[in-house]
Amino acid sequence: MIHLLDKYFTTTFFAPVARRWANRGSDIAIPVLMYHSVSNEPETEAHPYFWVNTTPERFEAQMRFLKENNYNVISLSHGVELLYGAGNKSNKQASYVVITFDDGFRDFYLIAFPILQKYGFTATVFLPTDYITDHTKKMAGKEHLNWDEVSELYKHGISFGSHTANHAQLKDLNSEQVKDEIRHSKQIIESKIGAPIDSFSYPFAFPEEDKELTRRLTDTLIACGYKYGVSTRLGRASAKDPIYFLKRLPVNSRDDLTFFKAKLEGGYDWLHWIQLTSKVIRAKLTTP
Ligand SMILES: [Zn+2]
Repeated sequence: MIHLLDKYFTTTFFAPVARRWANRGSDIAIPVLMYHSVSNEPETEAHPYFWVNTTPERFEAQMRFLKENNYNVISLSHGVELLYGAGNKSNKQASYVVITFDDGFRDFYLIAFPILQKYGFTATVFLPTDYITDHTKKMAGKEHLNWDEVSELYKHGISFGSHTANHAQLKDLNSEQVKDEIRHSKQIIESKIGAPIDSFSYPFAFPEEDKELTRRLTDTLIACGYKYGVSTRLGRASAKDPIYFLKRLPVNSRDDLTFFKAKLEGGYDWLHWIQLTSKVIRAKLTTP
């Protein structure tokens, strides 16, 4: 459903409406971009909504667009501070953006990072730690970062978070397994870079319709010492979000600058309602 409608309605209707309403409420909304791979690799999914690759040319154009339009690219921790911190320290006129990458692919080091550096931007990379090794290895068909590269990136201002250990489908695991995935991945990144890891990115579509699971995951993340996290819930992040499952905006090669701009301005936020409704309906249909 979402993937049939999103681009048309976002650019033609919802972006202009969102623009008109910007700065009216007291809450700010921050676009948290969700990238995976920056590469020319072919996609495996037929429909562009599910694509995970952004070509280097398109990624560069998107970063240039942010620079030329005076977007204020901030770290995820800074974004969380602005959304949830005591006292509203945000500047309403500033257009904040947070950049995130899931899965820890090596093309982040080789292609995305040099482009980010060129524009002076930072990003957070979420690592499925079982895929990160001491040597460059192809796992599940793609090269992932190695620990030396992670350390080097960290020294150059890139932040890291956990994406579980084994890129696990957490909703299918028991409580002990979930705890292992969440705790182990945090500990290993901390031991490799020598700094605390505060953030978590839920792998796969986030089952937000399952309130019990959401509550259990939140408790586990708190118990393991995480402070905040992101998910695949669609839209710009706001303080109305649960702090461990902030909304993000998926970006890929399909995002020409018109679509990219519309997403940044809130033109994609309406899709969360459809996303949640379809999940609830699907959950009801599959429950015996
Ligand atoms: Zn992932």
